[in-house]
Amino acid sequence: SVSKLPQTGTTIFTVMSALANEVNAINLSQGFPDYECPAELIDLVTAAMKNGYNQYAPMAGLPALRERIAAKTEKLHGAVYNPDTEITITAGGTQAIFTAICATIHPNDEVIVFEPAYDAYAPAIKLMGGTVKSLALEPPDYRIPWEMVKRLISSRTRMIILNSPHNPTGTILRKDDIDQLSIIVKNRDILILSDEVYEHLIYDGEVHESMARYPELQQRSFIVASFGKLFHSTGWKLGYCLAPAALMQEFRKIHQFLVFSVNTPMQVAIAEYLKNEETYLSLSSFFQQKRDTFRQGLAQTRFELLPCSGSYFQSVWYNNISDEKDTDFSIRLTRDFGVATIPVSAFYSKAIDYHVIRFCFAKKQETLDMAVEKLLAL
Ligand code: PMP
Ligand code: GLN
Repeated sequence: SVSKLPQTGTTIFTVMSALANEVNAINLSQGFPDYECPAELIDLVTAAMKNGYNQYAPMAGLPALRERIAAKTEKLHGAVYNPDTEITITAGGTQAIFTAICATIHPNDEVIVFEPAYDAYAPAIKLMGGTVKSLALEPPDYRIPWEMVKRLISSRTRMIILNSPHNPTGTILRKDDIDQLSIIVKNRDILILSDEVYEHLIYDGEVHESMARYPELQQRSFIVASFGKLFHSTGWKLGYCLAPAALMQEFRKIHQFLVFSVNTPMQVAIAEYLKNEETYLSLSSFFQQKRDTFRQGLAQTRFELLPCSGSYFQSVWYNNISDEKDTDFSIRLTRDFGVATIPVSAFYSKAIDYHVIRFCFAKKQETLDMAVEKLLAL
């Protein structure tokens, strides 16, 4: 067979959004806002296009944008990244993830992945000939069992992939996780791919534990970020990667031939928009309000709420409603009740189904209200 990924089908996000459109359901499945991104940002893009920013950006990204990102990272986490050698602008977090894996994973390298896991990690590892060592986490807390992680480590372990705030569970890494992780990687040749695309979507006054805050972790980490998440513009596919110079050098060897550079006018616009730190510091309260009202609504239904400390996803158990498989339940919920969600089993590589589904609450209040109204019928 020509297939390099014989087990891989179409991503669940495409499948569920297509079904939602087909049956005209409220789409709380794929993670994207149903409201407009800031008008000011759109004006900045238009102005950049009119001002002639329509040709290739430098390979690593617009210098002004990289400088802004360096300043932001230093201010928030105290880490100094050199914009020339340690920051690269990418086509969304997705390209940063793929590029980091492609640049570092050799055949037979092992990569530790915690499940439920975002679906972009495993295919990239497999394409490089690496082995996914997955560890399944359990609801309601989805805590990482660090003792088990220790036992999974071998001389072949090349990378650990982390994602905090977490998609799909909304959990976050806390200081004690950082401490345990630090002990495990100490004196070992293990890289970290830290998917931090929801870094500013964190609630109840919690702190985002970026790898950038801990020098011994930072020095071995690729940190992935996404402007689609920050500025309600997932369709722009703009993000970035932070890594120490030696790792970034390898990253750019791939980046230059995968995309060379990413679109120029949006980089110009975002560099300008980032000058105002309120644009991202306000996100926690913006989304916490959505989380809170959506949770209040769901509390009236027969779903059982799981915790949500970050991200724009709320997961629920549906055991009180049905004993169907989560994939079947999600399809029925979309078709018969008009609300599309993501079955969380899609984020596990083994047949694990805790009867949990994920809602995206990056939606207008009226959309969330309408969805709750429909879910009350269950
Ligand atoms: N990582 C996680 C955990 C995500 O949820 C997403 C998707 N939104 C991405 C990476 C990819 O981000 P982007 O849309 O910027 O490619
Ligand atoms: N990250 C988004 C989600 O989890 C979707 C990204 C995508 O569609 N690939 O829903």
